Amino acid sequence: MPDDCVFCRIVAGELPANVVLREEGIIAFLDIHPAASTHALVVPERHIDDLRQLDDAQLWLRLAQAAHKVAEELGHSDGYRFYVSVGAGGGQTVPHLHVHVLAGEMRRLPA
Ligand code: AMP
Ligand code: ZN
Repeated sequence: MPDDCVFCRIVAGELPANVVLREEGIIAFLDIHPAASTHALVVPERHIDDLRQLDDAQLWLRLAQAAHKVAEELGHSDGYRFYVSVGAGGGQTVPHLHVHVLAGEMRRLPA
């Protein structure tokens, strides 16, 4: 794991986060700069730079299922926005794979 990876440090408990879900191999926590009234990030505990390096179909399914669960548990059974920034060219600012879950009042659309 890269020592300077913010999300690896959250996984390791070295940085605080508002954790909303933790299950085998996956953590979800609230985004520090929310772009909606509900904005969570669903993150594999294992460091993967971005979606292009993901080679585990089961993990991808489990990330999606965790996103559904987070939205549901935060009161959004009516649905939510699910997106992934892929690489610097895709606007990814934290190079550890994560899925954005946005719901409720959207304050800004992803750039
Ligand atoms: P992206 O720009 O798609 O890579 O998304 C990265 C997201 O991580 C942004 O929405 C940031 O606000 C969020 N973020 C960065 N650092 C933290 C942190 N320490 N805790 C929670 N969210 C963070
Ligand atoms: Zn990492």
